[in-house]
Amino acid sequence: MSDPRGMRTAYCGELRAADVGREVTVCGWVDRRRTHGEHLAFLDVRDHTGIVQCVVDERIEARSEYVVRISGVVRARPEGTANPALATGEVEIGECIVDVLKRAEPIPIPLHGDVDENLRLRYRYLDLRRERMQHNLRIRARVTAAIREAMDAQGFVEIETPMLVASTPEGARDFVVPSRLHPGNFYALPQSPQLFKQLCMVGGLDRYYQIARCLRDEDLRADRQFEFMQLDAEAAFVGADEVIDFIGTAVGHTVEAVTGSPLGEVPIITWDEAMERYGTDKPDTRFGMELIDCTDLFAGTQARVFQVPCVKGITVAGGAEMGRNRIDELTATCKRWGAKGLAWFRVGEPGEAGAPALEGALTKFMSAGEQAALPERLGASTGDMIMLIADERPLANRVLGLLRLALGRPPVTEGGLAPLWVVDFPLFEDIDEAGNPRPAHHPFTMPNPDDLDYLVRGGGESLLKVRSQAYDLVINGWELGSGSVRIHDAAIQKQVFATLGIDDEEAERRFGFLLEAFAYGAPPHAGFAFGVDRLTALLAGEENIREVIAFPKTQSGADPLTGAPGPIEPGHLTELGLRLRPA
Ligand code: ASP
Repeated sequence: MSDPRGMRTAYCGELRAADVGREVTVCGWVDRRRTHGEHLAFLDVRDHTGIVQCVVDERIEARSEYVVRISGVVRARPEGTANPALATGEVEIGECIVDVLKRAEPIPIPLHGDVDENLRLRYRYLDLRRERMQHNLRIRARVTAAIREAMDAQGFVEIETPMLVASTPEGARDFVVPSRLHPGNFYALPQSPQLFKQLCMVGGLDRYYQIARCLRDEDLRADRQFEFMQLDAEAAFVGADEVIDFIGTAVGHTVEAVTGSPLGEVPIITWDEAMERYGTDKPDTRFGMELIDCTDLFAGTQARVFQVPCVKGITVAGGAEMGRNRIDELTATCKRWGAKGLAWFRVGEPGEAGAPALEGALTKFMSAGEQAALPERLGASTGDMIMLIADERPLANRVLGLLRLALGRPPVTEGGLAPLWVVDFPLFEDIDEAGNPRPAHHPFTMPNPDDLDYLVRGGGESLLKVRSQAYDLVINGWELGSGSVRIHDAAIQKQVFATLGIDDEEAERRFGFLLEAFAYGAPPHAGFAFGVDRLTALLAGEENIREVIAFPKTQSGADPLTGAPGPIEPGHLTELGLRLRPA
């Protein structure tokens, strides 16, 4: 194997006191030049491993970002000049021979400190020189290597599936590619390899995986880009338990490979439980503040606001000091989220009866018993704040879940990793305006066999009760990935399509190949996919996945570096059989 050091004998960041006396050649960029006096200058030379100080003749022309090769002798820095902030801070390279390999124009963005993100992406090749990006992209490479190690060790076969495909519905819009050879026809870019991996199971490959690029035309967010990478996996003759096991092993191995510490046991909770305890199907369990049901405490209440199907609350520890402005702000936010209001109580010193006294606008409508029972139920004590939402149960859960996050969620770098599996998702998320249910996962998810009878077209709200065999992996409130046991029977698949409002003709046209494949001996199978960008961001302590992607798009989906998306030549349009409508 050739020496990765190439034309150098040492990396800048690796030199230590133990290297004193060593003759070395380092290569890199001039990070900073400082005057030394005595006809000498300091050059801080940077490569991907760090920075080392070189003492050079001041006549040498080498400014910031010049590319240099420097040969010299490692020596201890003079008494009192060591820099403890730098890993190489005890040494410097002296007696230097400097070879300027390439001069550089003054660079348009600084490499230290904050810079506007658009500028960072406009000059991404410079931004990549920052220590943060160097660090994050190396974590990313470790993540993908570790995933491969874990999947290979578990007998999975890496298989590539095509990028030019027919549409695979995952709930987003497709990116489409016009076909030159079939004018008027389009490929879709894959929202996921879902259907191909199922076909691999019909094809007897048994255990498939791929670190797959997926493309979805939907609004970009901190945890979402148009294109993203996922570990995509599928296995035959397994159920949900085995999937949870092999994906858990892959994630556990990856976390350990990057952080050096095991992920630990991953708890499993049902979707119902997640909604009741956290008000969301992707709970951040790094902190408590769980939603507590208080409905029964108000069974015979005189207070009109609490004469509703559900009253639930959270305790904000030490929150009694919250000012009126902040409370009003939170109330307005809860209303925006759909609640009628926010009931709040400061928990004061215990009164005569021994229970802490409540202070709040609603206490005058509440009995002494209700006032005493509330802090006890919520485990609240003097100095805390109690916040209640009274409404229909799903709405109370949802709003309180958002409030819990707004008031309690720690920054991404705190609280370690809190993973959990959420299982037993409903098959349908909601019913759209046209009366069609929307799949909570995707249309290929196996319903719970006990609920098959409810799967009738026009089933209305009762459809929302149909359970599926779908499960999510959640870490720190991020949906890391989803999967399910699949339908492998054409009759059930047609029944689900029909419930979704996809009639036989459309099912045949769009998914006929899948239904046909099921006719030729499809094994029972199940699978999963999790986001590599999201996992990397969590491990790198980044809030935004753009920080762990070498060349991401901006929030508006553009690439300021290459100018994409841009117009194409009129001739190219003609060749594709396309004509633009006048704007
Ligand atoms: N295809 C699904 C997705 O991309 C994952 C799966 O069900 O395996 O979310």
